[in-house]
Amino acid sequence: MKAILDHIGIAVKDLEGALRFYRDALGLEIEAPEEVPSQKVQARFVPVGQSSLELLVATSPESPIAKFIEKRGPGIHHITLRVDDIHAALAGLKARGASLIDDQPRPGAGGALIAFIHPSSAQGVLVELKQSAIAKQSAISNQQSAIQRYAVGDLELISLSDGFFRLDGGSMFGVIPRTMWSQKAPPDERNRILLSMRPLVVRGARTMIIDAGMGDKESEKFHEIYGVERSRHLEHTLAEAGLGLDDIEIVLATHLHFDHAGGFTVRDAGGRIRPRFPRAQYIVRRGEWEDATHPNVRTRASYLLDNYVPLAEAGVLQLVDDDVTIMPGVKVRRTGGHTPHHQMVLLESAGKSAAFVADLIPTTAHLPDVWVMGYDLFPLDSMAAKHRFVAEAIEKQMLVLFEHDPILAAGYLQEEKGKRTVTGAGA
Ligand SMILES: [Zn+2]
Ligand SMILES: [Zn+2]
Repeated sequence: MKAILDHIGIAVKDLEGALRFYRDALGLEIEAPEEVPSQKVQARFVPVGQSSLELLVATSPESPIAKFIEKRGPGIHHITLRVDDIHAALAGLKARGASLIDDQPRPGAGGALIAFIHPSSAQGVLVELKQSAIAKQSAISNQQSAIQRYAVGDLELISLSDGFFRLDGGSMFGVIPRTMWSQKAPPDERNRILLSMRPLVVRGARTMIIDAGMGDKESEKFHEIYGVERSRHLEHTLAEAGLGLDDIEIVLATHLHFDHAGGFTVRDAGGRIRPRFPRAQYIVRRGEWEDATHPNVRTRASYLLDNYVPLAEAGVLQLVDDDVTIMPGVKVRRTGGHTPHHQMVLLESAGKSAAFVADLIPTTAHLPDVWVMGYDLFPLDSMAAKHRFVAEAIEKQMLVLFEHDPILAAGYLQEEKGKRTVTGAGA
């Protein structure tokens, strides 16, 4: 089990004295008080690097903190360890005979799950386990059915999942300050935010998949850096949709970054890399192919040749030059911005329309024009393309599919007084 020191709780008898020491003498910043009615305490967090001190002041003589001080005087009350999976941690502790105060997790502040372990099992220290809301989110997403189905006229859309990964929050939001983006996308202790990978199956005249997630050719170190969680991945969700790899006739790339094209190829038992979808033609925009096969110092980290060069070698690659129709009702449109030849996919049938926008609007947090990724090579182009697309999506009431949003697979956009919102679309 991996655990991180989240905070140390200190039972405080004299708040003024505590502030004189921690704030004035040590010069630490004290956050605004938070009431915890269930414990009859007021908590004040004091950030220290990746962890915090938590000053706990009883608001009633009935408070466990008041009782603690009565018995032992002020001092260290508990330590809190943050874990990825609190259920697994508790099960492990139980199996080894630890004495638990909470044998099931319960809700804590900020949407977290918490549980206390008895001091008798921990050398006299009260230990709290905590699973943050964001870890919970992905644990939940992994358990739940990850596929969503939508009808757009005669086209059937199935949003799949290739699991989750994490990218630096600052890089994901370009010039937007952390104080703003962190409210929409809470960062983990390494400042990374959770992102999903949601390839889209389109069934119409033919069966097609747009993008294919990250795939499984990368090293453990790569998975560690990008916080990859693929316990449920593309093949699981494809099977859940009643499909296998050989049902796919067309693989369409929005662009060739590893989180979109990694799943295009697979390493076989002999170590050879070959196309993953054995019957499919792979369609890539020519400009993107040129850029991806000639990466430069800026683009090299995202363009991994093993993800697509083997397609050309296997003779299954088809390059397109323009905004062409891929099959009836399915058209690509170059957006530029993120990469010069990044394209989105427009789906239209019987008066209904949808758009798979890929990295033009990776998550619902990226709806405002200026919320553009630092990764984008031409951010002004991204803003212009997004501005035009959002107006069109609202006017045509398009279903918009978000490839990287960790929570919402698709929704409809609105704009009121310059503020854009999205209403989730159910299956
Ligand atoms: Zn990308
Ligand atoms: Zn991406």
